[in-house]
Amino acid sequence: MLEYAVNPPNGPPLLEQGVNLKPYNTFGLPAVAQRLVRIREAADVRRVVDHPLLGRLPKFILGGGSNIVLTKDPDEVVLKVEIPGLRLLEERPDAWIIEAGAGVAWHELVQWSIEQGYPGLENLALIPGTVGAAPVQNIGAYGLELKDRLESVDVIDLVTGRAAVLPASVCRFGYRDSVFKQTGFGGLAGKSVITRVRFRLPKPWQPVLGYLELERKMAETGISAPSARQIFDWICEIRRAKLPDPGKIGNAGSFFKNPVVSEEQCRDIIGRDPGIVHYPMPDGTIKLAAGWMIDACGWKGKAVGNAAVYEKQALVLVNRGDARGAEVVTLARAIQESVYGRFGIRLETEPVLM
Ligand SMILES: Cc1cc2nc3c(=O)[nH]c(=O)nc-3n(C[C@H](O)[C@H](O)[C@H](O)COP(=O)(O)OP(=O)(O)OC[C@H]3O[C@@H](n4cnc5c(N)ncnc54)[C@H](O)[C@@H]3O)c2cc1C
Repeated sequence: MLEYAVNPPNGPPLLEQGVNLKPYNTFGLPAVAQRLVRIREAADVRRVVDHPLLGRLPKFILGGGSNIVLTKDPDEVVLKVEIPGLRLLEERPDAWIIEAGAGVAWHELVQWSIEQGYPGLENLALIPGTVGAAPVQNIGAYGLELKDRLESVDVIDLVTGRAAVLPASVCRFGYRDSVFKQTGFGGLAGKSVITRVRFRLPKPWQPVLGYLELERKMAETGISAPSARQIFDWICEIRRAKLPDPGKIGNAGSFFKNPVVSEEQCRDIIGRDPGIVHYPMPDGTIKLAAGWMIDACGWKGKAVGNAAVYEKQALVLVNRGDARGAEVVTLARAIQESVYGRFGIRLETEPVLM
């Protein structure tokens, strides 16, 4: 009976039962969703909210599964966001405003925008996942964060079914953080589905080049004023050389956030470990390289069962084949303890553990 009440009268069914989630998470961890609803348009969210049974059950929103660690079969109804659409919404004298459906692959949006002549997202090329998840942890790479380009986000409340447009100013963006990830007062984690995202790409385009690896590319090639397309290509090259391809080795990208400490704390750590890699931040705090600390504790290549620390980059945990979520979590906890033991710093995980 469940199917008839939620599935639309025409078109493919939205609700599926007993769905294998292994292909839907980039770590390739095993789990089965009792109920999964495909969200192909905003109205599908309201169908779920209005459904007499599904409306009352807890829900988990799934994008591309590139920032989650599945440790068990989820009890929640899984809402798999697949809303399509890419378009130029408006061209203003000072910016292009583009809009994408939450289910569009992030990299597809970046590629499309460059090809259409709307530059500004090139530094974020090749980040896995969907457009709808990008604001959740304010994705960032190579000197650019999503918040630098976000105009507004369309959301639907999972309790009331009410739609709202949230401008960037209310999204409480921080380092790998936003209101969509926060659970405290006013936090929207798990409460709202992002259905559509708009970006503001400033004119005239200015390249973001301050990052060491990009400077190295400029020096190597002798190109001192690269185009957006050139930066896009460089970023893709750099990332392919550095990070494991989830299509070949299961992983969720950086497993830990880089901890941010005060100058005083940093001085203390440097006193003990002069080699520690660190970056001064504009607000006077210091960002420490978590990967360096994990490597310094001797974790590169170490494993718990089939979950291992990537040989080329200690910040990334990988699936050597048939790893289980529990093995990934045990490995992560052991790393956190040893980093705390040596540096007195508690590493925070970046992916959502569930
Ligand atoms: C190889 C690799 C490299 C990576 N590199 C980077 C990087 O450079 N920078 C970076 O910031 N991240 C990086 N990541 C992490 C990841 O790609 C991003 O966090 C991405 O935005 C996650 O998107 P997703 O669709 O896979 O989200 P999922 O993993 O499906 O979900 C992540 C979280 O977002 C929520 N969510 C998903 N969709 C929605 C929605 N429509 N509405 C509301 N909530 C939603 C989920 O409930 C969950 O809490 C990398 C990951 C991998 C595997």
